[in-house]
Amino acid sequence: MAAVPEPSLILSFEDARHLVEHHAAQLRPRGKELVELLEGAGQILAEPVVADRNFPPFPRAMRDGYAVQAADLSQIPASLEVIGEIRAGARSDDIPTLQSGQAAAIMTGAPAPAGADAVVMVEHTSRDAGRVQIMKPVAAGDNIVPIASEAKRGERLLSPGAWLDFAAIAVAVAVGRSRLLVYRKPKVAILSTGDEIVDIDVPPAANQIRNSNSYSLAAQVQAAGGEPVLLPIAPDEPARLRELIADGLESDLLLLAGGVSMGKYDLVESVLAEFQAEFFFTGAQIQPGKPVLFGRVPSGAGALAREQPASPQAHVYLFGLPGNPVSTMVTFELFARPVLEALAGMSPRKLAFLKARLKSEIRTKTGLKRFLPAILSGEFEHTEVEVAPWHGSGDIASMTRSNCYIVIPPDRDKIPAGESVPVLMR
Ligand code: AMP
Ligand code: MG
Repeated sequence: MAAVPEPSLILSFEDARHLVEHHAAQLRPRGKELVELLEGAGQILAEPVVADRNFPPFPRAMRDGYAVQAADLSQIPASLEVIGEIRAGARSDDIPTLQSGQAAAIMTGAPAPAGADAVVMVEHTSRDAGRVQIMKPVAAGDNIVPIASEAKRGERLLSPGAWLDFAAIAVAVAVGRSRLLVYRKPKVAILSTGDEIVDIDVPPAANQIRNSNSYSLAAQVQAAGGEPVLLPIAPDEPARLRELIADGLESDLLLLAGGVSMGKYDLVESVLAEFQAEFFFTGAQIQPGKPVLFGRVPSGAGALAREQPASPQAHVYLFGLPGNPVSTMVTFELFARPVLEALAGMSPRKLAFLKARLKSEIRTKTGLKRFLPAILSGEFEHTEVEVAPWHGSGDIASMTRSNCYIVIPPDRDKIPAGESVPVLMR
């Protein structure tokens, strides 16, 4: 039977989250591998990426127009002699150094000629054969990006731990990196528990529920940069649960779903204790997801039980997530994700909520911080959010109709329509 959790191990949401972040900050990824650039998209960079040249490599025109000396435009209109044309891709030294009284037609992206200190937009000029009339003055530096102003040769542009999103991919290409070192994805064992749970291709009897948690968690793990390892369903029976937990401890992180509430057959905590598990919290003041458990087991504890080689890490971290499907999903995002991201090599990031206008009043109970599945709608800067109709933490269908969570602080029991409320996007 599950031990009764010490009250001190039930933390506020913020304390629980900070504790997870604290442990995550000490974790290191497993190893590195070299991948083709696009294969690396969405993975975590494991090496610095430096500028192999100056950016831009030449003073670059930002507009179509005329390269000039700004000092020549003190009297407007000014008439300048056009000495040539520079297109993108041209060599600026094919154009003689610009002298006072001269201009060169220039296109966006072309190198500004020596002697020019500004570009006048073509809209403010009128061309007449070999001369151009300038109708608007410019300041020195206008419409020219100076050489090396974006980055100097040798400067670090991306650091290990960077998430390789499309902007990072552009940077890698700009410095000529067709392959990148990325961190290996951590293996995340997923173990669902419950006598009533059956796997996807077993026709469920009337008293049985299909195992959705293992699969929703696997999808969340993949999206967060991990490699899910699905274990067989554990019954509410200590011997088999023990075996499967031992298997799970072979991975870099163990996620258990179900069996962490206070019921007679909620065995996860007591079986984990047999592996010398250390618990950092056994509950958080949140809804859904209050019985969430966070701990770790010394490496080898699982393998010892099965006489197999130990993992090279000092500990295997684990989460016991409540089995109600919405609770499982929410607690993964709130607590398991930062640990997984750290094992994946990602630089730590704080959890930040956005704000949106509440469409209709919310009434709830005080005492817990609530993460209510919600629908963010509207358009452009006129966004609104409302709670998705749902029937509690088992209602997976309502999750598919929602796209975010409204976050309600524990001291509020009524939030009027129109208030700006915190929203956690998903
Ligand atoms: P538990 O946390 O084990 O008390 O489970 C709480 C509720 O979640 C019960 O109604 C379970 O039937 C349901 N549940 C537990 N595990 C799963 C699972 N793997 N897939 C779908 N529902 C589950
Ligand atoms: Mg259960």
